[in-house]
Amino acid sequence: MTDTTGTTAAEAARREAVSLTGTDLHLSFGKNHVLRGIDINVDAGTTTTVIGPSGSGKSTLLRVLNRLHEPDRGDILLDGRSVLRDNPDELRRRIGMVFQHFNLFPHMSVADNVALGPHKLRGLGKQEAHDRAIRELDVVGLAAKADVRPTNLSGGQQQRVAIARALAMDPQVMFFDEATSALDPELVKGILALMADLATQGMTMVVVTHEMAFARNVADNVMFMDHGEVVETGAPEQMFTDAKSDRLRSFLSQVI
Ligand code: ADP
Ligand code: MG
Repeated sequence: MTDTTGTTAAEAARREAVSLTGTDLHLSFGKNHVLRGIDINVDAGTTTTVIGPSGSGKSTLLRVLNRLHEPDRGDILLDGRSVLRDNPDELRRRIGMVFQHFNLFPHMSVADNVALGPHKLRGLGKQEAHDRAIRELDVVGLAAKADVRPTNLSGGQQQRVAIARALAMDPQVMFFDEATSALDPELVKGILALMADLATQGMTMVVVTHEMAFARNVADNVMFMDHGEVVETGAPEQMFTDAKSDRLRSFLSQVI
């Protein structure tokens, strides 16, 4: 899995993109039935955006799909094969995740933040992991900042580092959970462009977002969730111009 030939994760994904499927996923927190039978199918090399009101279960879905929460019911398949019997750590190595808050280690350089996973979890030697980090930082346009501390970077730059950190693990699938929500408005576009690049390169991606232009223009499929259910799913143009459900129409009228 580890590529030491100078290939970046995005290039590797294009070469070996995999599909991701969740079927009939349920999860309750106590009496709160948060996911109520979610079906999601992301074809290899495609991007699905997940939209929906706050509290509808979008973040929980991502956390179930990479087994940070175990589903009460349902199955998860990567590349057509159920992963529920595997070690969850293995699945998390295959799925890169980028959050709203970047969670970088403030006491480590940018390069060390990115190299940590490849070194500790992928078993690359220190120098190899460092080289890998520099290459991924180059992909996100930040190789020049390799030696600085994350706290000396803008929010947008920190999010680029977080993306590089995820890519350095050579993921087969990338999850983004409101990756631009904490950024100043002028920094949002750059991050969205970077995500769009990854999508174009053929990375399999699930993107939870409030950025409707991204959902519409970049995604292959859009999924609308409300109250723990998939209310509607389809191609972006159809979803945005010809919504079938009142709930999606009402949601779109509030956010666009
Ligand atoms: P969204 O991302 O769409 O805003 P979430 O997935 O964060 O929604 O939350 C969906 C529901 O699950 C909410 O009612 C929330 O309070 C609940 N929830 C999420 N995470 C937890 C948790 N770790 N423990 C208990 N309840 C949770
Ligand atoms: Mg959320």
